[in-house]
Amino acid sequence: MDERTLLSTLEARFPHGPLSNDAFKEFLGSVVPFLEAKGASEEDYERLLRLAIPERIITFKVVWEDDKGVMRTNLGYRVQYNSALGPYKGGLRFDPSVTPDVLTFLGFEQIFKNALTGLPLGGGKGGSDFDPKEKSDNEIRRFCVAFITELSRYIGPNTDVPAGDIGVGGREIGYMYGAYKRLANVTDGTLTGKGVGYGGSQIRTEATGYGAVYFIEAMLGHVGKSIQGARALVSGSGNVATHVAEKLVQVGALPLTLSDRGGYILAKEGLSLEVIDAVKKLKDKDGKLSELTLPGGVTYHEGKVWGVHEAELIIPSATQHELGLDDAKIVVEKGAVLVAEAANMPCTLDAVDYFKEKGTLFGPAKAVNAGGVAVSGLEMRQNASHAQWPRETVDGELHAIMRHIHAVCVEYGSDGDKVDYVNGANIGGFVRVFDAMQKLGW
Ligand code: NAP
Repeated sequence: MDERTLLSTLEARFPHGPLSNDAFKEFLGSVVPFLEAKGASEEDYERLLRLAIPERIITFKVVWEDDKGVMRTNLGYRVQYNSALGPYKGGLRFDPSVTPDVLTFLGFEQIFKNALTGLPLGGGKGGSDFDPKEKSDNEIRRFCVAFITELSRYIGPNTDVPAGDIGVGGREIGYMYGAYKRLANVTDGTLTGKGVGYGGSQIRTEATGYGAVYFIEAMLGHVGKSIQGARALVSGSGNVATHVAEKLVQVGALPLTLSDRGGYILAKEGLSLEVIDAVKKLKDKDGKLSELTLPGGVTYHEGKVWGVHEAELIIPSATQHELGLDDAKIVVEKGAVLVAEAANMPCTLDAVDYFKEKGTLFGPAKAVNAGGVAVSGLEMRQNASHAQWPRETVDGELHAIMRHIHAVCVEYGSDGDKVDYVNGANIGGFVRVFDAMQKLGW
């Protein structure tokens, strides 16, 4: 079976799935040549096809009451994609853009991201088309309770352990875990991303952003470059983006921008920790960047951040397909040397091809943003042993895991003295899952 046949078989199985089909295409582009070079059998290709099909997709109705007393209905989903390495693990996203396609692509990516961490984690993803914007705290709580009441029958510490994602932060995880504990009458850590006071891990909130910067440092170090003094365009202003920006400042780099759905803030000399903190507080209350009181040297503009200033580092940290081919051309022209996907699949496939063609270092999401799920794995370990590790211990483990992922990418992605991180991450994650599936008789 060749790559084209595999892709067309998957396209037929997921006919309304442009994002999942992009994810399959990118993945097969790395893995099929790898299998071919090893002289793979028909059975290997069949197993590869099985791996791309979720073990289970659960769809359910979520009925909740708004502040006017009206019962509203949304759709909830959980894609339990692959459990060869451990319990399904992956975030929940609450956003009107959530569809089975979005969650299939995110769940598929999650399998290999989790495998790259070296931890015993399967892959999954879930969420709802519920829009948390402009909802009261009571409405959010009632929705979270309704959502987890339905989902609770399918999850558990050794079955499926959801976490947060877009629209699901500490507040939502708290409400869902509180309801889950009452329903199941257990304290078993079934959700991760919990507050530190009730079973959460230190550094989990910061982990995805911090981990992304640790990975970028490893990529730069591999080609003899330093992150110090590097200017970065960062998109987004949520959990991932603000912690990317914070860690950049801590390691001596200059985050120039943060953005939201309306526009972006720009500081040509670099955003300060005070401004980044103010953005975190604003977003905790669902505010807009346009409403932020800005100090001198920081300005607000409408539009996207790509190309608004010369920058060596490009770190998309908001959402999928936010950086297209035209954006790629602009950032390369303006001096980008490294692009790191802190969000999931923020670059379109043609943008990724362009970066490769131009020799721009490119770090794919499944490697760059694996720090979040890695610390979620450490949170599960702490919950299972009823322990609470100190901040330094978790940060040290996170750093070590990001260095390990970098080493795996170098091992499987080296081509002469260059590293193709897309191939490295795809093949490195794949080998672990594929081997487990084979040994499990799957
Ligand atoms: P978040 O806290 O909800 O923040 C999302 C940010 O992206 C917000 O600033 C939001 O703008 C912006 N955004 C969302 N949709 C957008 C759109 N269509 N156009 C422009 N901006 C948009 O979410 P997050 O946890 O930071 O997640 C960001 C990305 O990282 C996602 O791709 C997620 O899957 C990925 N990721 C997250 C984690 C994690 O641990 N949280 C781990 C791995 C990967 P507004 O403020 O205007 O809403």
